[in-house]
Amino acid sequence: MRKTIFLLGQKLRNPNMLKEYYKLKETEKSTIEELKLIQLQKLKRLLEDANHTPYYKKVFKNEKINILDINSLDDLKKIPIITKSILIKENDSIQNKKYNKRLMKSETSGSTGESLKFYRNEYWDSVNRAAQLRGYSWYGVKPWEKNGYLWGYDFSFLKKLKTKILDFLVNRFRLFEYNEKKTMNFVKKCKKAKYLEGYSSMIHEVSKIANKNNIDLSNLKMVKGTSEQIFESYQKSANKAFGKKIISEYGAAEAGIIAFECPHGNMHINMENVIVEEINNEILVTNLVSNSFPIIRYKLGDFVMIEEDHNCVCGMKHYVIKEIQGRVGEVIQGNINKYPSLTLYYIFKNLSSKYDLLLNYQAIQCKIGEIELRLSKNITETEKHYLIKEVEKYFNKDLKVDISYKQFIRSKNNKLRTFIQKL
Ligand SMILES: [Zn+2]
Repeated sequence: MRKTIFLLGQKLRNPNMLKEYYKLKETEKSTIEELKLIQLQKLKRLLEDANHTPYYKKVFKNEKINILDINSLDDLKKIPIITKSILIKENDSIQNKKYNKRLMKSETSGSTGESLKFYRNEYWDSVNRAAQLRGYSWYGVKPWEKNGYLWGYDFSFLKKLKTKILDFLVNRFRLFEYNEKKTMNFVKKCKKAKYLEGYSSMIHEVSKIANKNNIDLSNLKMVKGTSEQIFESYQKSANKAFGKKIISEYGAAEAGIIAFECPHGNMHINMENVIVEEINNEILVTNLVSNSFPIIRYKLGDFVMIEEDHNCVCGMKHYVIKEIQGRVGEVIQGNINKYPSLTLYYIFKNLSSKYDLLLNYQAIQCKIGEIELRLSKNITETEKHYLIKEVEKYFNKDLKVDISYKQFIRSKNNKLRTFIQKL
């Protein structure tokens, strides 16, 4: 019954999805050479489409690029890098008017508040779903199985009603309001579910409540975190509650599914659908199926490390993203120097690797030369000493750090950000 509803829904919304899913299952065991060939073919098609948009017509002309001369993946480097602000500014001249049927609207907000709107063609949307389903298949998850969803929970009454109906159709339940009682109800529903997905900080809250009430949720075949950094401390609590770690899916609306973690803990790049470049540790993504709104060499804003010859036990040859180290570009301002917000990541990584001290944190800067470091729990005097030692190692005496404990660091509407700049 559930399967029938799912298949019917897919047929209406994403007629190409199943076909694309089977293709992706087939190329799961492809060699790198075979994968690169698929990338090149799709890239050529994407460039042909891009050449129909006023924006790229102009870019290709200015850069003297003839798309027929792009005959290898290396040639991609001839095309200029694009940023979110260009996608926003040149929005209308990037949208490919050739695609005018079955479009799906996407909207994503940027960290600076401006939002990006664009329209995806059906193929793009279907391939994206297919890539997600391939990831699910590694965990034996069928998309029509009962699932819990933790994603945004500030809804108006009407929106809530509409969401509930749609959720019912896809066999999904979610947490609409965050408090201990509602979360406990959610945990009870998870007992009957097969998988759980959403913001990792919310999954963490669920695991804590399950542990506190001695509820075993090892019935879940897959627990998937997205959008936020998965702290190591989350995994400890997850292992206890779910009998497994939180796995991660890495992607963005405009870039599509970039990577999906396999059961052996490696984030395999979805190479059939994206080309990932790493320049000075920064990621550039080309979304090979973004035909209606070409995303080419897009600066997504994350730091990553890519490993090309990783021999994964799962058998996939797809490149692996070793580390996603948070957002690029945010800066902590000391009295004398400036520090990338990534410094915080290293401080807490060191605490966990050197002293097995796992902390959830959020840092806020309201004044130059000062930051407020908020921790979710209390720590011992010795642990405070370790923390201060690590903080001073990076910031010397240039930055006054106020530490507060037992803070609720989950923000209400937005995803958890480890650093907030309020200068
Ligand atoms: Zn693998």
